[in-house]
Amino acid sequence: MPLFNALLRALDPLHGVPEATRQAFACWYLQAKIPQIRYVAFLTTALYLIYAAIEQNVETDQPFARLIVHALLVPAALLAIGLLSFQPRRQPLMLGLLSLAPIISVLSNLYFNFGSPRFAFYAPEIYLNLMWTFAISGLALKRAMATALFSLAAIMLVTLEHSLTPGMQRLHLIWILASFSFGLLSAFLLEKAHKHMFLHQDSLALSASVDSLTGLWNRSRTLHFLIEEVARSNRYGTPFSVVLIDIDHFKSVNDTHGHAVGDSVLRQFAGLLRDGVRVMDKVGRLGGEEFLIILPEIDAAHAEQAVQALQKRINGFSFDRVQRKSASFGIAEYRPGESLDCLMERADQAMYRAKANGRDRIEIL
Ligand code: GH3
Ligand code: MG
Ligand code: MG
Repeated sequence: MPLFNALLRALDPLHGVPEATRQAFACWYLQAKIPQIRYVAFLTTALYLIYAAIEQNVETDQPFARLIVHALLVPAALLAIGLLSFQPRRQPLMLGLLSLAPIISVLSNLYFNFGSPRFAFYAPEIYLNLMWTFAISGLALKRAMATALFSLAAIMLVTLEHSLTPGMQRLHLIWILASFSFGLLSAFLLEKAHKHMFLHQDSLALSASVDSLTGLWNRSRTLHFLIEEVARSNRYGTPFSVVLIDIDHFKSVNDTHGHAVGDSVLRQFAGLLRDGVRVMDKVGRLGGEEFLIILPEIDAAHAEQAVQALQKRINGFSFDRVQRKSASFGIAEYRPGESLDCLMERADQAMYRAKANGRDRIEIL
């Protein structure tokens, strides 16, 4: 099975990654493709109008029906795609049209031209259509494949249906095969490269946000969360609290047992904090043996209850070599409109009051 999984990952770098990452990629990819979809849709609209004008000049078979399809139906669908690309909420409709437009143009081409001696002049539109679907339209690989397979099935059906018609027309199957395979390969390689890039960028972003010793959020990411929480609280009027935590007499751990044991205690302490809060709470290491917890939608009284539970966990835990270790906690509830510095200053003062009052205590300011 590992070999099979490796093969699947070679085909799809996102194979086996968490669903949330796959969704994040799909979302990021679509947003990155929107300008491409827009410009390609507008350019193709213009080219279809020129094509329709030339066609009216040179073609005498079903000119009115051709005009409807090439000057109205297909350009209208493409124009709609371009305009819908400006509206994020209409993206499903935009993608639906984008998947449909190439099929309409292939079917109409076959309907108007197949079997006619002039088919050779019109067939390039079909080859171009397949390449366009895969490599130019901006459709993601799976959607492009569904559209192109539908077109391919129609082309094969019509070509083989006319098997009694002798002649060169069936030669165009090789060009179809070439267009389909080049298109598929280029779309596959491009999407694979983008998936690799996304994963790389994702891991870079994570390592820039995470404290390497404890795995908690690092200082800058924690302060960033705090800025977001302040903005949310000011906007929606919801309370939130912060807890500043400093391990008591931590220096003696290093002095007595060495730095490695100190590091191990920090990791264990971080684990206790992370496992002792809700999923929505943010736990960060500000530096040294100082930590910050952000508790969204929690006032000071409820924060105190949460911190009491944490303190109980810490006091009851047996740390590496040092056995018991306590910490001092400073709680501050955000006051609407106050600055982030003010909030942190109060949490800091509360924590120092806990130290001054004998450590292993919780203070609120
Ligand atoms: P207090 O109860 O007043 O907080 O006393 P304390 O000893 O905890 O405070 P102090 O700030 O004097 O000491 C903090 C120590 O934390 C000093 C430093 O050597 C140690 N420290 C800071 N970062 C790390 C680290 O990443 N690993 C280890 N092992 N120790 C660290
Ligand atoms: Mg300390
Ligand atoms: Mg300290």
